[in-house]
Amino acid sequence: MRFEISKVLDAIEGRVSTDPELVRAVLDLAEVARYVDLDGGRPASTLRLGMVIDALGRQLEEDNVAVYAVVHRALLSDADLTSNERMVLRRWADDGLVEVLNNPGDRVLEVADLLGLPVLSRARYDGMAGRFPWVTGQPGRLLAPLPGAGGPVLVPRVKGNAPAPTGPSPSGRKLLARTWRCKEPGCVLFGGSGGGAFADLAEIDRKPSGQPPPRLRAGQPICPRHEQRLTDAGPRPATEVLSVRIGGMVRRRFVVTAERPVLVGRAPEEANGIRLGQWLNDEARRWISRSHVRFELRGADLVAQDVSTNGSGVRPGGSLEESERIGLARQQSRVMRPGDIVELYPGVQVGRASTWVSGGMTNPTSVMAEAPTMAMRVVDRG
Ligand SMILES: [Zn+2]
Repeated sequence: MRFEISKVLDAIEGRVSTDPELVRAVLDLAEVARYVDLDGGRPASTLRLGMVIDALGRQLEEDNVAVYAVVHRALLSDADLTSNERMVLRRWADDGLVEVLNNPGDRVLEVADLLGLPVLSRARYDGMAGRFPWVTGQPGRLLAPLPGAGGPVLVPRVKGNAPAPTGPSPSGRKLLARTWRCKEPGCVLFGGSGGGAFADLAEIDRKPSGQPPPRLRAGQPICPRHEQRLTDAGPRPATEVLSVRIGGMVRRRFVVTAERPVLVGRAPEEANGIRLGQWLNDEARRWISRSHVRFELRGADLVAQDVSTNGSGVRPGGSLEESERIGLARQQSRVMRPGDIVELYPGVQVGRASTWVSGGMTNPTSVMAEAPTMAMRVVDRG
């Protein structure tokens, strides 16, 4: 049982991030961990984070969605969690996968405001509508995770058709255009060189494009963890967020930066390579090379280069017309225009994440899949 919980926590670890490019919603982990009515189990459990992430995946109809978790420092020593959970939380904190704060205050709303994302919370935040008008004014921005028949469902505070994602707010865009540095030595959120020439490679592997939005205090950017003024370390490297879509379903997102090209294929050897093997049928597996297409940024251009044995194709502007499909032979490269989709094999596609509004998956893979009946057993054993 302990082993299974570890596996679930490992799976959840892949879905928490402070990377503004990858996260899809913001939440307060100390709050979510105490949603006892989701499973009828212990007073606090980090597995409920997985249940809420699953609910977000179902809502977005997409696999592998990630959340931005703000964590009150007290949760790291909360006796209602198991020692294993506390250890995992500390690891996430040390790796910068979650944002640990002495005093979260309105940080959840601030991150959501700066990044233009929904908040997953049962709090009503009535007193905050002055500063964050979307809390009571915009459909779909504040979503309460509540028990549902097939797992938690996200119930909007403001009913109505949720607006298309608008991306970061004007101040969010300004903050995200720069790289920031914290004075605190070894600061995991705003440390090192921010992805520059001296960046630690292991750190980059974990955090593809990086830095979370700074906290704003009296208009000044500060490190949320150390509450110190941040210094401006220059422009943030350009990034593109791409999605893998297979058989009409978005399986995962990934980030390409100027410093880090990304290989996509059946099973690329590179640590940051995107492995498609698990989602392919036999024919697609035979056709698609271990490394098939390389995506890189050259200046402002996103370039796709075929590195496969069998070649790829490009669908200009996402066109479904076979006559418009452009072949991409081995070693050929092409600048991707807005809406262009690279096709490794019929139905196996990569494009900018913004190309597809819906993930197209009615039943995304559960992050809890390692232990489908565990919650029940926890209840049984009291
Ligand atoms: Zn710091």
